[in-house]
Amino acid sequence: MEHARTVTPGGVNSPVRAFRAVGGTPRFIASAQGPWLTDVDGNRYVDLICSWGPMILGHRHPDVLAAVGAAAERGFSFGTPSENEVALATEIVGRVEPLEQVRLVSSGTEATMSALRLARGATGRSKVVKFAGCYHGHVDALLASAGSGLATFALPGSAGVPASSAGETIVLPYNDVAALEAAFAEHGEEIACLITEASPGNMGVVPPAPGFTQALRRITREHGALLISDEVMTGFRCSASGWYGVEGPYDEGAPDLFTFGKVMGGGFPAAAFGGRAELMGLLSPDGPVYQAGTLSGNPVATAAGLATLRGCTPQVYDHLDRVAHTIADAAHDALSAAGVPHTVQWAGSMFSVFFREGEVRAYDDAKDQDTEAFSRFFQAMLDQGVHLPPSAFEAWFVSASHDDEAVEAVLAALPIAARAASGSGGTI
Ligand SMILES: *Cc1c(COP(=O)(O)O)cnc(C)c1O
Repeated sequence: MEHARTVTPGGVNSPVRAFRAVGGTPRFIASAQGPWLTDVDGNRYVDLICSWGPMILGHRHPDVLAAVGAAAERGFSFGTPSENEVALATEIVGRVEPLEQVRLVSSGTEATMSALRLARGATGRSKVVKFAGCYHGHVDALLASAGSGLATFALPGSAGVPASSAGETIVLPYNDVAALEAAFAEHGEEIACLITEASPGNMGVVPPAPGFTQALRRITREHGALLISDEVMTGFRCSASGWYGVEGPYDEGAPDLFTFGKVMGGGFPAAAFGGRAELMGLLSPDGPVYQAGTLSGNPVATAAGLATLRGCTPQVYDHLDRVAHTIADAAHDALSAAGVPHTVQWAGSMFSVFFREGEVRAYDDAKDQDTEAFSRFFQAMLDQGVHLPPSAFEAWFVSASHDDEAVEAVLAALPIAARAASGSGGTI
């Protein structure tokens, strides 16, 4: 890590990996198999990060490994059309009913950035509405964080984002229809689109209240704005067709655009955005909205994605559900026994544990938790060989490969970690 810090800012290529929220030194992972990570010192951990979602089948799944190997044998990148990308697009379009076309890109950030441009191109408007606590990648306009008040013109959430860019973004509290009505009443004519996580998972898991997604559809349509459902995290994880498969179809109509990433790349850089053919037809080369990528639809990445999606059978989703509930129930029991305030929330088989009491409906609730208790909990789990996401604001991810041995290891670690969280000992 010391050497990494000399050649890379903070020693990491994505900030959360640096353990700043929990303290201590990140583990350097040398290899992984199924539900297990092995670090460079030879220690094993049950993996509850799963690369933040993509490793839904577990590490080095034989079918994915074979598909990647076969694709790599044929060549790494062509810069021409190739068959795997069409097969992956077909698989995605076949799973999410409102989709007619998708374009493949290389990261979730690129997907949301491109979807915004398409929405602005389609409407000729510039403003974007997002929700506080929803993460859509590091797109300038989407890094804006909420100020106070009902509808706040956001301050940039990062240095280097021009005020002019953040000024086009309106940030609203999640699950608050009144705030949404007010913002659209005031700025409706200027709003190109509303982007939301289909079911937010980047402030911890905060599902939409009943009717909220439907209200988004109704209000955006009334004002001629597009609705973008960001399924980068939920896509093909919450169900075979993502959050849309859990909550949709909607009487009010489907979102106009969807974004995907994570699971659909199977651990490789592949992501997508898509919608109706008439809207997607506005993209280059058919239409005026430019969008491109040297590695878009990469043959190895798309082979991994396709093998992963094909491996996501109904049995896999049943297994994810069972394992997630077993772990979440045990975490709840252990934290209760140790007297640690907490709340478990769900979106399909995706869940997270907030270190506070009471329902979390929006970012302000999520921020109001005992992150120090989480840090103690996290470190005690790590000491016992369970690698949680190193932040209290993240979902815990499981995979089809989490078997009895891995689950038992998690269950054995939880009571000790819960006592550590409570501050009454438990360090080992
Ligand atoms: C991870 C994530 C992104 C960004 O994807 P990257 O591949 O990290 O750029 C966007 N939206 C959501 C909902 C995500 O969870």
